[in-house]
Amino acid sequence: MAVNYDAEGIEGGASLTRRGPALPEPASLEEALARARACRLCAPHLPHEPRPVLRAAPSARVLIVGQAPGRKVHETGIPWNDPSGDLLRQWLDVDRETFYDERRIAIIPAGLCFPGKGPGGDLPPRAECAPTWHPRLRAHLPHIELVLLVGAYAHAYYLGARRKGTLADTVRAWREYLPAYFPLPHPSPRNRRWLKLNAWFEAEVIPELRRRFADVIRRGGTG
Ligand code: SF4
Repeated sequence: MAVNYDAEGIEGGASLTRRGPALPEPASLEEALARARACRLCAPHLPHEPRPVLRAAPSARVLIVGQAPGRKVHETGIPWNDPSGDLLRQWLDVDRETFYDERRIAIIPAGLCFPGKGPGGDLPPRAECAPTWHPRLRAHLPHIELVLLVGAYAHAYYLGARRKGTLADTVRAWREYLPAYFPLPHPSPRNRRWLKLNAWFEAEVIPELRRRFADVIRRGGTG
């Protein structure tokens, strides 16, 4: 099943809320990152060697949860190093240097590895990934104040039944999820039509997103 960025909901997203396998709990963020980066859990289902792409430091205040790396991110190993990342940085009004400062911003997608291509685009993030790694990584990120949920799969995993009936309605209800979560559409070029049809997002939501993001970043995370 391919990801449909224009979809008003997602198919199969609820499966992301399944529990991951019972693995030992990492004792530190360093150990959690090392184990996630060495993960081969769904290797038989991937069309390539697993290459988890994530970054975090214990002092991070903001967590960005996207869907899964695309091919370019898979090849470079740098998250959001593509047109989607360019638009996300524009929404946040942040330069690349700050965006990639893991002491301030952790980046952990719903699926850590590129899932491959389907007939309609990238495949969905592997369902076993987020339940396996997000709780184990989050346990060692005690300073996260704001989680940006970018796209329907991130909404599904973190908001679960609190999501509205459509992606647009979930994003429009952003106030309900604060101060912990800020749900956003995915900034993929495939989603430009959604952004055009929902001009309220850039007019009303982006200014508040920028304000909250800047406030959290300014207050710390450089230690
Ligand atoms: S997608 Fe997630 S679960 Fe699968 S191999 Fe990569 S890190 Fe492991």
